[in-house]
Amino acid sequence: EVAFMFEYYAGWTTKIMGEIPPVGPEAMSLVIKEPLGVAACIVPWNYPLMMASQKVAPALAAGCTVILKPAEQTPLTALELARILEEAGVPAGAFNVVTGFGAAGAALVRHKGVDKIGFTGSLEVGKIVMREGADTLKRVTLELGGKSPNIVFADASFEEAVEGTCNGIFWNQGEICSAGSRVFVERSIYDDALNAMVEHGKKVRLGAGIEPTTTMGPLVSKDQQDRVLGYIDVGRGEAKVALAGDPVPDGELAEGYFVPPTIFYDVSNDMIIAREEIFGPVMSVLPFDSVDEVIGLANDSDYGLAAAVWTRDIKKALTTAKNLRAGVVWVNDSQPAPTEAPWGGYKQSGVGRELGPYGLEDYLEVKHIYVNLAE
Ligand code: NAD
Repeated sequence: EVAFMFEYYAGWTTKIMGEIPPVGPEAMSLVIKEPLGVAACIVPWNYPLMMASQKVAPALAAGCTVILKPAEQTPLTALELARILEEAGVPAGAFNVVTGFGAAGAALVRHKGVDKIGFTGSLEVGKIVMREGADTLKRVTLELGGKSPNIVFADASFEEAVEGTCNGIFWNQGEICSAGSRVFVERSIYDDALNAMVEHGKKVRLGAGIEPTTTMGPLVSKDQQDRVLGYIDVGRGEAKVALAGDPVPDGELAEGYFVPPTIFYDVSNDMIIAREEIFGPVMSVLPFDSVDEVIGLANDSDYGLAAAVWTRDIKKALTTAKNLRAGVVWVNDSQPAPTEAPWGGYKQSGVGRELGPYGLEDYLEVKHIYVNLAE
């Protein structure tokens, strides 16, 4: 996917075009696009190389100079990317990596020589970046967290919906910004779907990521494990547990920061586990009775990154998709993010869009050249 991202944006380098808007017979206006300047790309630890590439590839294609600041937990792929770009012939100084903790990112956000910040990370830090960037009026785009609804209607293909719903939250240990963490199930299939999702969760095999038999690896760090287990404790006090998420300290697994799949049911939208991003394999299941009700519940969130809708009824699918306040809506699927199409959040999930042609726009300035043609 990363290789394709570079191929895709390499194609755009010969297709960044301007416009000649008609401004009357006595003048000519030329609108041209120019590189924005120096772009600092600050990225998180989940999908570290992909998150970096969806900023670096369009920024370089737009003609910007790039400084990449990887997360402190995952700097190595950024350094490897620098090596590969050098080998590919990117001119010295056009792509740079600054490793370090949050302070390194903060220094870039404050630096006068940086024109643009492309940030992916938490809502909390995203707000700081926007505030701090205001001093030098930086162009800021933000890809932040989510609490994405996954809506299963009774007329959905049952097995596909159950499998897709589970993958949408258990894939990558739930360390996915767009994880379908709030699962709304139509009441007539609520019990059956819940049981099927629990059975699916029980089949998950925890283990080292490089083992072929593993279907779920460890979380990124002890901090993240503690955070997720903390939310699971909160959930035990708020809702009912359908599948328990105790750590699994037997044998080799004791060495990793594992959290097994966890499913809470009879969750209500006002509970902490339904409002805050947990960023782990923790599913909250909520019942609903009608299209209008579920749209209202799904939209009742500070976040608006993604959503999934499972139904065989095209009208219901599109009506729901149109009314959801989310930047990405999947119908009968969960999590695909093709390079050619836009990615980004509504509400507090972000500002701006990445991927596709939109991903390029935020690294370009627009210049209007006005030529007086009057005699
Ligand atoms: P984070 O906000 O803690 O850190 C992200 C990056 O910001 C890191 O490189 C960090 O060092 C840096 N940073 C920290 N403090 C800073 C400051 N004051 N100024 C500038 N930079 C600073 O996020 P994280 O824990 O690494 O990543 C998880 C979060 O990322 C989740 O909330 C997740 O939803 C989000 N995320 C969003 C998307 C998306 O596409 N919307 C994709 C992946 C992850």
